Amino acid sequence: MSKRDYYEVLGVSKKASAEDIKKAYRKLAMQYHPDRNPGDKEAEKKFKEATEAYEVLKDDDKRAGYDRFGHQEQGFGGGYSSRTGGAGFDGFDFNDIFSNFGDFFGGNGNEQRTRKKASAQRGSDVRYNLEISLEEAFAGCSENITFTIPSNCDSCGGTGSSDKSKPTTCPTCGGSGVIRVQQGFFIVEKTCHTCGGSGEVVKNPCKKCHGHGRVNKERTLTAKIPAGVEEGNRIRFAGQGEAGLRGAQAGDLYVYVTIRKHQFFIRKDEDIHFEMPLRVTTACLGGSIEIPTIDGSKVKLQIPEGSQNGDILRLKSKGMSVVNSGGRRGDMFVKLNIEVPVKLSSEEKDLLQKLDKIMANKASSNPKSESFFKKVGDFFK
Ligand SMILES: [Zn+2]
Ligand SMILES: [Zn+2]
Repeated sequence: MSKRDYYEVLGVSKKASAEDIKKAYRKLAMQYHPDRNPGDKEAEKKFKEATEAYEVLKDDDKRAGYDRFGHQEQGFGGGYSSRTGGAGFDGFDFNDIFSNFGDFFGGNGNEQRTRKKASAQRGSDVRYNLEISLEEAFAGCSENITFTIPSNCDSCGGTGSSDKSKPTTCPTCGGSGVIRVQQGFFIVEKTCHTCGGSGEVVKNPCKKCHGHGRVNKERTLTAKIPAGVEEGNRIRFAGQGEAGLRGAQAGDLYVYVTIRKHQFFIRKDEDIHFEMPLRVTTACLGGSIEIPTIDGSKVKLQIPEGSQNGDILRLKSKGMSVVNSGGRRGDMFVKLNIEVPVKLSSEEKDLLQKLDKIMANKASSNPKSESFFKKVGDFFK
């Protein structure tokens, strides 16, 4: 793939002054910086291209080489990509540049330092997924949960130091936990490699925890799940997340509740929906049937004479518990699923044939069929 000319990339002439080149690059960098164009691959490409061009043209020696040999010269073709790392900046007005780009980094540098350091020390929050049955969600339950998590080291009391001495300020980053490296016009902050972002180093590191002040331990907690808990509800255990670095504040543990699918019952908010198979004779004659409920008991349900397939009957206060309601419950809705009998005996068939003959001469027994056939008859007239 042929490379665009560096001067063309920056939109400057071959005679452009160092100041013009800097200005041109700054303009392009502001326009195409990835932080301003999240997810935009084209902008990212343009940004990289401009940075590469600038890395060459800002340097008098490299620029002279490029002017003479172009991209083909050994060492040029590979590109002056933006991989400058900690190469330092060549006499640019550091503060000026940084303040121009301040909005990319979320305000002034000092604010960010403090934030970074604090978040590096506090332990992380942790999520634990707990699956329970619908019956448990109805009644509430108490579940022991066991997990392995970074916890305070006993050997050093969480200090990270074998003689429990106080940590000292990290010499590399001066305690900020971050170091700044220059990339083109941009100052990028990275976590300090000496202290891992904590801003502190430990003398005589504890052998058990290697100076971190924490080690993995198994922990068991009891999660009390209230009656009526819903899918996705979470319960917070303050301070039960990961231990902080060297005695810093621990994170929190969040137990997220998911509820297993039930074989009969479907929960809709505080109600329970249930589909009940029903004999056709019961639907015709009416009757009383026993149905199971979510609380484990059985209740009698009255089926009215002439119930239709799909009819929904309501049982008040037989649904789910409602959280923090003092025992209030939703309702249960029973949908009738009337079954047409199969594998009939000759006696059953005989009876049905008799019934069929009677019904054929009595319109009111099957009003829907009757009205339908009347409409069809009218249609063909
Ligand atoms: Zn450091
Ligand atoms: Zn330790």
